[in-house]
Amino acid sequence: MHLPSEASLLEYVEKNVDVLEDELHNAGEQWRQLRRRGKDLCFGQYCTHARLMEIAPEAFSQVRTILNIHQVGTVHLDIFSIRRAIQNVFIAGMGTSTLYGVAGAYDMFQDNLTAAEVGVGATICGTVAGIIALIASPKRKRGGHYDYRKRLIRIGLHREAVIPEITAHEYTHHIQKEHLKMTPIERASPLIEGPARLVGGIVARNFAERTNNPAHVYHYVRRVAKELTNAYVQLCRRKRMKPKKNLLREQTYLNLLLGFNEKGFGNYYDTGTAVMKIATAKNGQHILEQVTKNDFSFLEK
Ligand SMILES: [Zn+2]
Repeated sequence: MHLPSEASLLEYVEKNVDVLEDELHNAGEQWRQLRRRGKDLCFGQYCTHARLMEIAPEAFSQVRTILNIHQVGTVHLDIFSIRRAIQNVFIAGMGTSTLYGVAGAYDMFQDNLTAAEVGVGATICGTVAGIIALIASPKRKRGGHYDYRKRLIRIGLHREAVIPEITAHEYTHHIQKEHLKMTPIERASPLIEGPARLVGGIVARNFAERTNNPAHVYHYVRRVAKELTNAYVQLCRRKRMKPKKNLLREQTYLNLLLGFNEKGFGNYYDTGTAVMKIATAKNGQHILEQVTKNDFSFLEK
């Protein structure tokens, strides 16, 4: 174990419940304001590989500045492509029906099946395999993902406006891999996801301000409102504490809208966002740099 235990992080959230409540209130306000600006939000086209190659270097450079880490190894980039998805479906479908056809031909030879039966069977199997290929590997279709082994950032199918936030989040994981002492199990830790969430948010806000397009922060604001709400509800449950009425009202409202608590109790994304929101509200943004450089002294403050 290199990272502080989850119990110590939950304790930190408990100790700072007033800060969490403020942050949750702000997050709810920001989310409501953003939704009111519906017409001003410009999400743009679905991001292509070429556009990703233009947007990502700027997002990466901002992440290095935020974390004050400038020695970073090469990272590879990949984006979900509709053309490639169609190819995969085609290959899976054709491959499976060919295999069925070969096996069926043997049965035909043994007089167990007729040619028509083999044809129908091959078509059904090919179609099923194609559908499975289409719905498989959801990580490639939505959100982003960092492959620690291949040093590869995979981006799902997204509009251009949310790309800076997602690429900055995943690039933070790349830097964490290089600088943070952690075991493979600890990759699913609040102190991995929390800083990545906040760094992605800062980059998204920079893009939003420069282009005067709030769509850049949409994904971030929505996620933070959701994660802080979950963290607060979980804290109240643990401590058998009554949640503040205005925050609870918000929770119910947002819950209905977004399907909160979908991941259940004690999710490390929720805890991570809560811990880092509290820590940066109390001490400033440099906590993100400290955490990435293995300094967790903020937990004692
Ligand atoms: Zn992440």
